[in-house]
Amino acid sequence: MKILQGQGAAGGIAVGPVFFLVKKNREIPQRHIDDVQAELARADAARAKAIAQLETLYQEALKTLGEEDAELFQTHQMMLSDLDYTESLTGIITNEKMNAEYAVMKTSETLAGMFENMDDPYLQARSADVRDVSGRLLDVLQGRDPAEVIIRDSAIIAADDLSPSETLGLDRSKIAGFVTREGSVNSHTAIFARNMGIPAVVALGDGLGPDCGGMMAAIDGASGTLYLEPDDAVMARMRGEYENQKQEKAGLAALKGQPNRSIDGRLMELFANAGSLDDIDSALSNDARGIGLFRSESLYLESKDYPSEDRQFEIYKAAAEKMAGRQVIIRTLDIGADKQAGYFKLPPEQNPALGLRAIRICFDRPEIFITQLRALYRASAFGNIAIMFPMIASVWELRQAIGFASQAKEQLAEEGRAFSPDLKLGIMIETPAAAIISDILAREADFFSIGTNDLTQYTLAADRQNSSIGKYADTHHQAVLRLIRLTAENAHKAGIAVGICGELAGDPSLTETFLRMGIDELSVSPPAILPLRKKIRETDLRLAGPPDDGSSFIVQD
Ligand code: PEP
Ligand code: MG
Repeated sequence: MKILQGQGAAGGIAVGPVFFLVKKNREIPQRHIDDVQAELARADAARAKAIAQLETLYQEALKTLGEEDAELFQTHQMMLSDLDYTESLTGIITNEKMNAEYAVMKTSETLAGMFENMDDPYLQARSADVRDVSGRLLDVLQGRDPAEVIIRDSAIIAADDLSPSETLGLDRSKIAGFVTREGSVNSHTAIFARNMGIPAVVALGDGLGPDCGGMMAAIDGASGTLYLEPDDAVMARMRGEYENQKQEKAGLAALKGQPNRSIDGRLMELFANAGSLDDIDSALSNDARGIGLFRSESLYLESKDYPSEDRQFEIYKAAAEKMAGRQVIIRTLDIGADKQAGYFKLPPEQNPALGLRAIRICFDRPEIFITQLRALYRASAFGNIAIMFPMIASVWELRQAIGFASQAKEQLAEEGRAFSPDLKLGIMIETPAAAIISDILAREADFFSIGTNDLTQYTLAADRQNSSIGKYADTHHQAVLRLIRLTAENAHKAGIAVGICGELAGDPSLTETFLRMGIDELSVSPPAILPLRKKIRETDLRLAGPPDDGSSFIVQD
């Protein structure tokens, strides 16, 4: 047995075989060829070899996974024999006199792009299959070993690191948990894992490598421990812990439908953070009273191209309808820094967290912003939607964002389309500047939501992506808590609501502090709602409590 200690990114126990994702940074050679016939023969031989590999995988999967899952490998075999595919390869090699690798890359791009533009979601998903088989073919052409591991149900996914879009792309029905060599607990990857309710451990270090692939493993997401080839004693302990957690969950279920009210009568709403319609289902099953942060960028991260107004409208509408009258706060596009979608072609920057990100990109590319705002306003006719702007630091930014919202509204009114004229426009307080001028911003914003992940990073000058400076990114720092308190006071003086939607909202050691500050709503990952409700209901503010400026957290020498 080998024990690796990392940082717990999402709680829970998971047991399963390790599937190590090796990312391939393919260099695809492009060269002119003289001997067309020889290159055609090379491409044909590679195709035959790839098809034979897929047949082996199919037979193995039949034995281990069953007919339904195994079918994928048959579909891939058919794709490699498909006339459109083979004729495209032949055409490029013959007419352009280019090598087989180039022909595979071009064919893959063209066919995958064709599938992506289809209306039928099933056919759209085939684009991933085209890329997958083409990758296999390139491996054969370049003499690389194929990845022959099959993700079995209940696998623990391991990787050097996962990007937010890779995390979102994981099929959560097949994943027991995930572990990464790098990463940090406040990265978006970890946040998405928490929202998905998947146990996860990050920053496990060099002990985690491809050689762990296929090993049996157990993870404890709360303590951040990975056990490779766990012995009987560990397995018994993990089973016990798993049972405890199950019972705890069953006990918490009794709190569904109960108010989030402290013993002395202070109410603090509990909303959920979400990035997808699946998360909304999970929010509902955990009795969220609303969605406090819908990270709309997940839609962009999951797509291969800008999502159209109609596609966005359908998703926002479905979110609003599912929440049936409860508030759904949708944050406008917050892309950039660690959240990258290739098709945006964002310029490389020295300090991306301080660069062109979030609202700044929306101002820079108004057509993207207006498309999203139109979709949001249209969806507002179907439920209780509010819009929230990220990364606001100045009054002019808030005014400019409101100006774009008015433009979208005017366009829709001219077209005679339905929307809610009372839709609220709020802002995230995630820069120290916004917290400090929150008295001024509160005059023009309908509500505040404090993004403590970025607020901590910018206040303490500590990169949230960098696990090696974790001790400098102290979310309990007096400076962060004072900014939260200042923001809450200014919001209430102006008569607007203030929530917290950063990860700190889910920290039970601060629940009492937030109640004392009068925070109106905490928005947390769906699995954190019922434990926090329990915490609120056990708190009595009439008893002496911690000072709300965080000074009790300061460690004195
Ligand atoms: C935050 O910064 O606290 C926040 C909620 O936004 P994100 O984590 O998506 O940057
Ligand atoms: Mg943020």
